[in-house]
Amino acid sequence: MARFSRVLLKLSGEVLRNETEPFDPAAMKAVAAAVADVVAQGVQVGIVVGGGNLLRGRDHAGQARNQAEVDQVGMLATVLNVGLLRFHLEDAGQRCRVFAPRAIEPVAEAFHRGRAVAALQAGEVVLLGGGTGNPFFSTDSAAALRAIELDCDAVLKGTLVDGVYDKDPKKHADARRFDTIGYDEILARQLQVMDLTAIALCRDQGMQVVVFDIRDPRNLVGLIEGRIAGTVVGD
Ligand code: UDP
Repeated sequence: MARFSRVLLKLSGEVLRNETEPFDPAAMKAVAAAVADVVAQGVQVGIVVGGGNLLRGRDHAGQARNQAEVDQVGMLATVLNVGLLRFHLEDAGQRCRVFAPRAIEPVAEAFHRGRAVAALQAGEVVLLGGGTGNPFFSTDSAAALRAIELDCDAVLKGTLVDGVYDKDPKKHADARRFDTIGYDEILARQLQVMDLTAIALCRDQGMQVVVFDIRDPRNLVGLIEGRIAGTVVGD
């Protein structure tokens, strides 16, 4: 029995790359296979993909460049990612619908809650590119927003570590991992789980977040089946 019935998976663009190339077909294939497996178990899946493998606005803004304008390009990067991920999902036999805040024909249709819910109910994966459509936000905030709009049970935040720690486990050997943690504790400690706007939105709307290690995409299946716990963020 799956632990969730409808989830919003947040994938950083970093998950789709390897050490030398921004797009790693093997990584996308592995993610697609895990997602198709989860859908085959009856779980409805929406996916928000970031753009960190290509461009993050904050890395390019400054001096003469206006962040709002660079962020627009960052949002386009996320559309490239969902467009490519769709091919791999379809290769895995998984039907998809691609949405973005505004239509980018023929790659993505304009986000429409009713159409997205109907697609989820029909067993299609709903791919959500283009973030929130607004600069100064991140795809973490887009994931929180769409999870709430689409009545998901949780945001599943796939990261490159196996949960939330009190400090960066890559830098500190004594970092402590949380099994569960409250939204306010994340905000007070400014932990790098999701951006703080996303955490505040999830707190205000009671949206659970589960942080798990997506370096092995099969962990998504383990999470859904309850074999992997991740760190649960909620009250
Ligand atoms: N972005 C934005 N508004 C959004 C979502 C994303 O302006 O609602 C831009 C921003 O420049 C961001 C980039 O798109 O840096 C890529 O998204 P993000 O950094 O969240 O990707 P990730 O780190 O998850 O790969």
